[in-house]
Amino acid sequence: MSKIASDFGIYDALKVLGIKEINEGSSTGTNNFSSGETIASFSPVDGSLIAKVKTTTKEDYEQVMGTATAAYKEWRTKPAPQRGEIVRQFGDKLRELKEPLGKLVSYEMGKSYQEGLGEVQEMIDICDFAVGLSRQLHGLTMHSERPGHRMYEQYHPLGVVGIISAFNFPVAVWAWNTALAWICGDVCIWKPSEKTPLCGIACQHIAATVFKENNLPEGISCLINGDYTVGELMTGDARIPLVSATGSIRMGKIVAQAVAARLGKSLLELGGNNAIIVTPDADIKMTVIGAVFGAVGTAGQRCTSTRRLIIHESMYDKVKNAIVAAYNQLRIGNPLDENNHVGPLIDTDAVLQYNKALQQVVNEGGNLIVEGGVLEEQGYESGCYVRPAIAEAENHFKIVQHETFAPVLYLIKYSGDVENAIAIQNGVLQGLSSAIMTNNLREAEQFLSAWGSDCGIANVNIGTSGAEIGGAFGGEKETGGGRESGSDAWKVYMRRQTNTINYTTELPLAQGIKFDL
Ligand code: NAD
Repeated sequence: MSKIASDFGIYDALKVLGIKEINEGSSTGTNNFSSGETIASFSPVDGSLIAKVKTTTKEDYEQVMGTATAAYKEWRTKPAPQRGEIVRQFGDKLRELKEPLGKLVSYEMGKSYQEGLGEVQEMIDICDFAVGLSRQLHGLTMHSERPGHRMYEQYHPLGVVGIISAFNFPVAVWAWNTALAWICGDVCIWKPSEKTPLCGIACQHIAATVFKENNLPEGISCLINGDYTVGELMTGDARIPLVSATGSIRMGKIVAQAVAARLGKSLLELGGNNAIIVTPDADIKMTVIGAVFGAVGTAGQRCTSTRRLIIHESMYDKVKNAIVAAYNQLRIGNPLDENNHVGPLIDTDAVLQYNKALQQVVNEGGNLIVEGGVLEEQGYESGCYVRPAIAEAENHFKIVQHETFAPVLYLIKYSGDVENAIAIQNGVLQGLSSAIMTNNLREAEQFLSAWGSDCGIANVNIGTSGAEIGGAFGGEKETGGGRESGSDAWKVYMRRQTNTINYTTELPLAQGIKFDL
């Protein structure tokens, strides 16, 4: 038994979450359909095996699809506010289980316990949002050009929605999708990341409890386990009208093509290459907090992590020195221990990518000003802990153009007007999150204008990471163009139907076309 896991109550948390068989090499899911090979979930916190989970075979998948389809027939007939009531109950269960689920997220994924709790809070928030929305799935009415006709549009559910999620938000991204899809009348099949399968099982248990308590079919929420081959079962399946996929750009390009080949819809939430512009009018204290949290929070493994700091030459040395000083204060270690700022990377493969990036930036002419490195001493046995690094670099470097999913921050100098900084900020293929630090209204508005930031998220005097659920979340260019979570993102989970009703005894044609028999 892992000492950290027992000291920090992980085993108790697993029990409360219904994951009972640990370290026994057997399936831990409620997902009775999974009969394939097992995958192991190792904690990056201490390298311990947490549990093994059976994967979903093609035959299992057919059974899952059967239960999902049957559940959909029942679920779509429930009025949307009643579906909202079920989502309300699900949110309440999450409130009860916030601490154990937050702990599991922290231990299985490696983010800090505070961030694990924050992720569960995000799930609760989206449930609250979805409950309200369940009474507001409004369509428009419009005036018909024909007398005695009424025209309006309404939204119907799509059917079975496929969700593919990444390791770094192992529970919240599923909730963003599923809470909205459920109130819209859809049922969901979820394939969580193979790196965080236990988070998926825990969520499935919670959802299943709520459906059971309400005599509803468990198939409203389905779970499939495994790697990309299991994801491919959904992307190629014409019975799934919408696939919502969160992950790398590499994955998004494959998924988009597979879904488009059958003319399905995909909602893509892919990688970012997020920058903060620091102008001569920036507040240095706020800049440092925003940049450091953005770059090292979740060990640089957020899609919205700050990768680039684009600093005006007049401020450059001041900002650089303040950030380097802040990096010297960082405490790296067990993320369940709230004294630490930075936890581990997800696995040793991620450590390899981190090392490669540091090597490459130097090869391309960059200058490492905070060197980084892998921690190997006692307490870091998992081999996944690295020191956050900072390099002075140029935007055109190949490595700067690429998203390295680790705490590596590039400092880039700009001169002249804010337009030059915006051009650098936009000069990458990704378009997720962006920010400007300035007290100058003119600069802020230019950044937000149509010729400003080209990203899905553009912030003023806030860092790039840490979005609220109320706004639509997503990005442009290679980030995929999808929008999830708040605002009117719900519309993607529904199909729109335009209805025209004639209440006369005549049959006039649109555009005044005559057709007399
Ligand atoms: P990944 O692309 O390796 O895997 C993501 C998911 O896709 C996993 O469940 C994986 O099994 C599945 N997958 C991979 N190839 C597939 C295929 N061909 N067909 C079907 N499914 C497939 O990503 P990751 O390493 O888990 O996560 C990190 C990446 O996710 C980063 O690039 C990050 O920026 C991105 N991300 C984006 C957002 C966003 O909202 N924009 C949010 C979180 C993470």
